[in-house]
Amino acid sequence: MLDTGLLLDKGETGVAARGVIDDVRAIAARELPSLVHRIDVEGLYPEAVMRAFGHAGAYAQHLPGESEQIDLGAAIGAMAAAGEYCLSTSFCIWCQDALGWYVYSSDNDALKQTLGRRVATGAALGGTALSNPMKTFFGIEQIRLKAKRVDGGFVVRGLLPYVSNLGPDHYFGAVFEVEEPKRYVMAVIPCATGGVSLADNTRFVALDGTRTYAVQVRDAFIPDALVLADPVDDYIKRIRAGFVLLQAGMAFGLIRDCIAMMEQVKAPLGHVNKYLDVQPEEIAAKLAGMEKAVAALAATPFETDSGYWRAVIEARLAAGEASVQAASAAMLHCGARGYVATGAAQRRLREAYFVAIVTPATKQLKKMLADMAH
Ligand SMILES: Cc1cc2nc3c(=O)[nH]c(=O)nc-3n(C[C@H](O)[C@H](O)[C@H](O)COP(=O)(O)OP(=O)(O)OC[C@H]3O[C@@H](n4cnc5c(N)ncnc54)[C@H](O)[C@@H]3O)c2cc1C
Repeated sequence: MLDTGLLLDKGETGVAARGVIDDVRAIAARELPSLVHRIDVEGLYPEAVMRAFGHAGAYAQHLPGESEQIDLGAAIGAMAAAGEYCLSTSFCIWCQDALGWYVYSSDNDALKQTLGRRVATGAALGGTALSNPMKTFFGIEQIRLKAKRVDGGFVVRGLLPYVSNLGPDHYFGAVFEVEEPKRYVMAVIPCATGGVSLADNTRFVALDGTRTYAVQVRDAFIPDALVLADPVDDYIKRIRAGFVLLQAGMAFGLIRDCIAMMEQVKAPLGHVNKYLDVQPEEIAAKLAGMEKAVAALAATPFETDSGYWRAVIEARLAAGEASVQAASAAMLHCGARGYVATGAAQRRLREAYFVAIVTPATKQLKKMLADMAH
C-alpha cells in the first residue's frame, strides 16, 4: 500500500499508538483482502475482524481516561489503515469509536467502568444514532425519538431509519426529546432492551456490510444508569469535534487506496493516463495537507473556540470532497479493469460517496458554514 506521508501514523502519535496502527494494518492486510468482495456484494459483517481490531487497541486510543493521552490521531490512523482495504469496515470502526467517545466524554463514571471498558476492547460492539439529532441541532430535520420521564429513567419511542454496527447484543448512543422541562437527553440504548427492534430492510449500493438497521423503539425503558447527558447542550459541544474529526480516518484510507490504484496502472496505462486532468501526485499532495490539518485539530478535540469548530467543519468537508474526487480519478485511470463487477475502482467510487453523504453530509457542512457567516 502506498505510503503518502501518513502524518497520523508517524510524527503526531506516540510510540504505543503507532504500534496499534501497525497492528491494525497487519490485521487488515491479512484478513480484509479475501473478505472485501463478500462484504461489498453479500453484506458480510466482518465481526471477527472488528473484535481483533479491538483486541489490538484500535478503539481505546482516543478515550479520555482510558488511554494515557487522548490520541484521536491514533484512532484516525487505525481507521485509515483498515479503510485502505474496505470503507464498510472503517465505517464500523468509526461507529465503535464514536460509541466509546460518547461514554468516556460523559460524567457517567460507572458506565465507563462497565460498558465503556468493553467497548474500548471490542468485547461489546455498537454504534451511534446521532445523524438525526445532529441534523435537528442544525435546523435540518425534526427529532425522531421522544421520551417521558418516569421513575428511575425514561420511556423512549420513535423510529431511526439507519443505525450501523448493530446486532442483538450491541449498543448505540441516542438522543431523545423530553417534555417538562423541554430538553434533549443522550443515553446508551442496548439493542436487547425490551421494545427495541432491528429491521434489516434496506440494501445499499455500498456499505452493506455495516449491519445497518432501521431501529424501532416502542416504549423502551432506559434507566438513569445509561444516561450520558441531561440536558445535552454542553455535552454535544464537547463531543462534536471528535465525532466529526474521527470520520477523517474513513476518507484517508480510501484516498490512499485510490492513489495506489492510479500508481499501479501507471506502467501499463501511463502513456495515455497522463492526459487525464487529475493525477495521483495531486491527490497525494492534497491528502498530505488534509492529514496535517486533521492531526493538528485532533490534538485539541475539546477546544471551545468557534474558529476551531469552523476549521473542523472545513476539514470534514474537504475529506468528503477529496474522497469523491480521488475515487473518480481512480476510476478514470483504471478504465475497464476498474469497471468490471469485481473491480476495486468501481467499489471505491460507490464507497466514496458515503463519506460525502454520512452525517454531517456535504450539504449539511455547507449549510453550517453558510449559517456561521451570518
Ligand atoms: C449505509 C448507511 C449507514 C448509515 N449509518 C448511520 C448510523 O450508524 N447512524 C446514524 O445516525 N445514521 C446513519 N446513516 C444516516 C446518514 O448518516 C445520513 O443521515 C443519511 O445518509 C441522510 O443524510 P442526508 O443529510 O443526506 O439527509 P437527507 O437524505 O437530505 O434527508 C434525510 C431524510 O430523508 C429520509 N429518507 C431517508 N431515506 C429515504 C428513502 N429511501 N426514501 C425517502 N426518504 C428517505 C430520512 O428519513 C430523513 O428524514 C446511515 C446511512 C447510510 C446510507
